[in-house]
Amino acid sequence: MAATTKQVTVFNGDDASPEVMVPVVDILKSMDLDIEFSYPLIGTAAMAASGAFFPAEAKAAIDNADATFFGSTSGDSTAALFYLRWGKQTFANVRPCKWMPGFNSPMASPQGIDFAIVRENLEDLYLGLEGDIDDLAALNFFSPHARANIGDLGPGKYAIKAITEAGSERVIRHAFELARQRNGQRKVTVTCKYNMLNVSDGLFLEIGQSIAKEYSDIAFEHFIVDDFLCRMISNPHDLDVVVMPNLYGDIMSDGSAGLIGGLGLAPSGCYGADYAYFESAHGTAPDIAGKNIINPTATLLSAVMLLEYLGFADGAARLGGAVKEVYAQGLALTKDQGGNSSTTEFCQAVGDQLKA
Ligand code: ATP
Repeated sequence: MAATTKQVTVFNGDDASPEVMVPVVDILKSMDLDIEFSYPLIGTAAMAASGAFFPAEAKAAIDNADATFFGSTSGDSTAALFYLRWGKQTFANVRPCKWMPGFNSPMASPQGIDFAIVRENLEDLYLGLEGDIDDLAALNFFSPHARANIGDLGPGKYAIKAITEAGSERVIRHAFELARQRNGQRKVTVTCKYNMLNVSDGLFLEIGQSIAKEYSDIAFEHFIVDDFLCRMISNPHDLDVVVMPNLYGDIMSDGSAGLIGGLGLAPSGCYGADYAYFESAHGTAPDIAGKNIINPTATLLSAVMLLEYLGFADGAARLGGAVKEVYAQGLALTKDQGGNSSTTEFCQAVGDQLKA
């Protein structure tokens, strides 16, 4: 192994995920890049082999790799995903939304839609801090901003939303740096619910406003998230980089995929200070598992992001170009894009373009 060889840990995922992960990794292997892939077991397969859903070998494989290529998981494999997020502190989930000719967009004029959502990946309502309202009431918890008394609510559950200074600052900074790198409209939009949640989301906005002052070359704007959603649908061409807390980012990025033609087209990369993993924005698509019809584009474009991260700029451009060409020529489109080709046929068409 040469010193420059990059190590990538691969998890094929559950349900329909392996149907896209296996052929996409095959395509990467066919590109003659200096990458070594490892395939540690997780989930039920790992339990059967070594008695743990997320064994030490899988954790070590993630730690020892330069990046992870992750197929969506469900159920028993989720511990690996949690480790990739919270263990590796991958705080910025970047979800590009770019229309290419041939994408089956429901929009009248999808040409030129090209923005990226940067979703805070670790905080907000995703900390898992949930429980019985009674337990919280017993703490005699009091907030001067409260619109109700916890003790008066009656039986039920709570979930804590936390927006930290450090967590907000690093993800918002990531968004500004991305706006510089993309060299598109050079604009950052902050969105959250700072009118109703003026303490927590108010802090997120405040930090955005403060960081914006350091980036005089990047334009800055902010919208309340409901207003933002309306703008994203009615005029997506105005957007460049949009940064938001976790829950809004989760929802808005599925919505943004809808703008260009669906979840099958939406890639994603999750970046930390010294690690990153890449996965499609969609889940395991259990309803179409085993049918060989899942669209591999989201996984292919996530692989493009992986190659960029690893420093294979030429390889990334070649792979991205091959996908673009398959759509431009309408060569082998899958069902979700109005075609009748299988996943296998689509991947074959991308492979052929790479050789052309
Ligand atoms: P999660 O909660 O993990 O996001 P989910 O079950 O809510 O998962 P997805 O797995 O993303 O959602 O699937 C939502 C819908 O989109 C399903 O009908 C699925 O078949 C469809 N879908 C998702 N990804 C693709 C794809 N790559 N190609 C075609 N259809 C897809």
